[in-house]
Amino acid sequence: MTQHPGTAADDFIPLLDDDHGGHRSGIDSWRILVVDDDNEVHAATEFALHAVRILGRPLMLRHAHSAAEARELLAGDRSIAVVLLDVVMETEDAGLSMVGHIRDTLQMKECRIILRTGQPGYAPELSVFNEYDINDYRTKAELTRTRLITAITSALRSFEQIRTIAENRRGLEMIVHASADLMETRAITALAEGVLTQLAAILKLPLDGIVCAQRGSPCASDPDGLYIVGATGRLAGHVAEPLHAIPDLAIVRAIETCIAEGRHIFGDDHTVIHLRSGHQEAAVYLNTQAPVPTSDRQLIEVFAANMSASFGNVRLVEQLHHTAYHDGLTALPNRTRFILDLDEFAARGSPDGVVALLDLQHFADLNDGLGHDAGNALLVSVAKRLQAHMAGTGRIARVGADVFGLIGPETRVNPEALFDAFMPPCEAGEHQLPVAITIGFCRPLENDRTGISLLKRANIALNRAKRSLHSSHEYFIPEMEDNTRWRLDIIRRLREDFHHGKLAVWYQPQVSLASGRVVGIEALVRWPGDDGFVQPPGVFIPLAEYSGLIVEIGDWVLDAACAAFREIRGLADAPAYVAVNVSMPQVRRRGFAQRVEAALAANDLPPYAIELEITESLAMEEPKAVVHSLQALKAIGLRIAIDDFGTGYSSLAHLREMPIDCLKIDRTFISEIADGQGGMFAETIIALGQKLGVGIVAEGVETPEQAGFLRGLGCPVAQGYLYAKPMPLGELMGWLQARAASPAN
Ligand code: C2E
Ligand code: CA
Ligand code: CA
Repeated sequence: MTQHPGTAADDFIPLLDDDHGGHRSGIDSWRILVVDDDNEVHAATEFALHAVRILGRPLMLRHAHSAAEARELLAGDRSIAVVLLDVVMETEDAGLSMVGHIRDTLQMKECRIILRTGQPGYAPELSVFNEYDINDYRTKAELTRTRLITAITSALRSFEQIRTIAENRRGLEMIVHASADLMETRAITALAEGVLTQLAAILKLPLDGIVCAQRGSPCASDPDGLYIVGATGRLAGHVAEPLHAIPDLAIVRAIETCIAEGRHIFGDDHTVIHLRSGHQEAAVYLNTQAPVPTSDRQLIEVFAANMSASFGNVRLVEQLHHTAYHDGLTALPNRTRFILDLDEFAARGSPDGVVALLDLQHFADLNDGLGHDAGNALLVSVAKRLQAHMAGTGRIARVGADVFGLIGPETRVNPEALFDAFMPPCEAGEHQLPVAITIGFCRPLENDRTGISLLKRANIALNRAKRSLHSSHEYFIPEMEDNTRWRLDIIRRLREDFHHGKLAVWYQPQVSLASGRVVGIEALVRWPGDDGFVQPPGVFIPLAEYSGLIVEIGDWVLDAACAAFREIRGLADAPAYVAVNVSMPQVRRRGFAQRVEAALAANDLPPYAIELEITESLAMEEPKAVVHSLQALKAIGLRIAIDDFGTGYSSLAHLREMPIDCLKIDRTFISEIADGQGGMFAETIIALGQKLGVGIVAEGVETPEQAGFLRGLGCPVAQGYLYAKPMPLGELMGWLQARAASPAN
């Protein structure tokens, strides 16, 4: 039974409003649940707490008259902060089993429980307090109005603390999760969400009206504009949109100011936090409604410093991710992405969809005749023409230099419609050029289960169309696949020529950008034909890989490279290593490490004289197996390089695991350096290499401008026609000697 309000002191209700650490929003009420089988207790509690505010917020009482009723009520309302619970109700232990239900069954760990009993003599076992995390235990007689309020206040304070800690933890978990899952498509948004949750918890703000914006679009190619990467509550729908999409101008201006001034802004009713890592910048806007206290500012500063680093990492990886899937020039998805889209399309088995490959006739001539810039402009305008034609009904990709891929409904992806679309000339700089196209079509067949097989078939049809004298398009039919005969013929000739010793290995120097010294050479296989025409390895290596012949050829290249390196080792200013390309079938085979050791031993070479180059896409096809093999090779002391970096889809997690010494930036990224915006991906890869602490070689450096740009970014080594084309050993020796005599850059 409750005691009536007694002494005057008890009637004096202290001002319990305590803003420090309180909830700034001040709108929500604290929900208190009273569980008691005595109606009078409910009435008295209601009376005692009438119009009381605690920690700046009003109370909202809910009432249950039995354990069963309390269960039902709790199941429907998880936001209860404090439960005032009668120990003895229907049965002796009804109250305590209620506590068990709250903690164990409902998993409500945060709400506070105050036990009340009418019988002074009755007290539960001490262990119950620990086990069930009970806050307070009072006899009802003890609970005068003031004491009741005091007890509830301290329970609410501890409820707030527990909730803050839990929110902090949730925020931290999100951040940890975001960093672990760096490669997920929306990693930056996951990270932003973590940052916002964490900040809201630190500052005890409601999760509403917080915005994180970064410089540069998360998905398209605009590197300068401000874009929203995280937002909460009513603004959540704006993620991935430009900052200006936010209707509240004050927020937009505050974020712009923060980025422009490059510092945190602590305003009277808002705070904007500045995050920066390298060239990457972002700002987080918080509607604090009041100035942030000094103690919280320090927290924010520490937090911002930490987050800046994670933020930089995620952006780096996301840019690489974007690079891996997009064509830099047209911003269309690239071949890798197109194959994934085709996979999805094949799996869906849509009967009315068609795949097409569209090739621009005479593009190479145009490019040579009008220049690179006009060529690029033409590709961009073709991309736009295709986008307009498809009008969002399908997928468009740039799958080769002058080849575009389409997936879409037959109504748009058919010869008449596409030829019509290209009737008007295309703009290319100041030129208006007529564009002639050749198209290969492929309708999915019964047994097309993979994207790559669809692409292959569309490509077969395209090649047919190119050779055809009457028509500029072809649909794939199964008989066309007979070109396997052509492939088998090449493989047979390659095998013959290889066994007759007709293959050769040429060498291309790798040069230090700082000193101009030759630091290494790369061995590149050549297949000279009887007619003097040298087959490009880009054609026959895939066939050799496909047939397994690459294992023998690769072994031979390795021996030849070691023997060559022994020859040039003695020269003045000799390079430090020879790089040898290896294919998956070689690496996968058992005993590969021993093979390399034998080649080294036969030529009296130390292990670090060899750098093995493995292409990124191969390495990432079977990362587990590759990591394993590479570790065995690394254990011997060999150097390992990832070739064509930036063109495959690297998981940062796997990349970290791989014992690599060097990343080779693919030459497509170097060739972009010529035209203004270019070089961004090279820059990103160089930054990644530096972060991973590995060497970097830029491939395909053709102009002094490119070399200068790369040198400026701190790229250590370059390889390319600017220095020398690949050449036979004899020629290389002469070249090296001449260079040692009069070093150039
Ligand atoms: P890669 O390993 O990326 O080799 C670099 C390619 O770029 C070489 O083409 C080289 O001649 C060319 N290159 C070098 N500098 C420049 C430049 O400044 N501009 C331009 N446009 N190109 C440049 P190559 O010799 O035709 O080799 C093509 C690919 O064949 C190689 O690409 C490599 O993946 C593969 N390959 C070559 N030799 C072997 C080998 O012995 N074993 C294996 N498994 N693959 C090989
Ligand atoms: Ca290579
Ligand atoms: Ca390469």
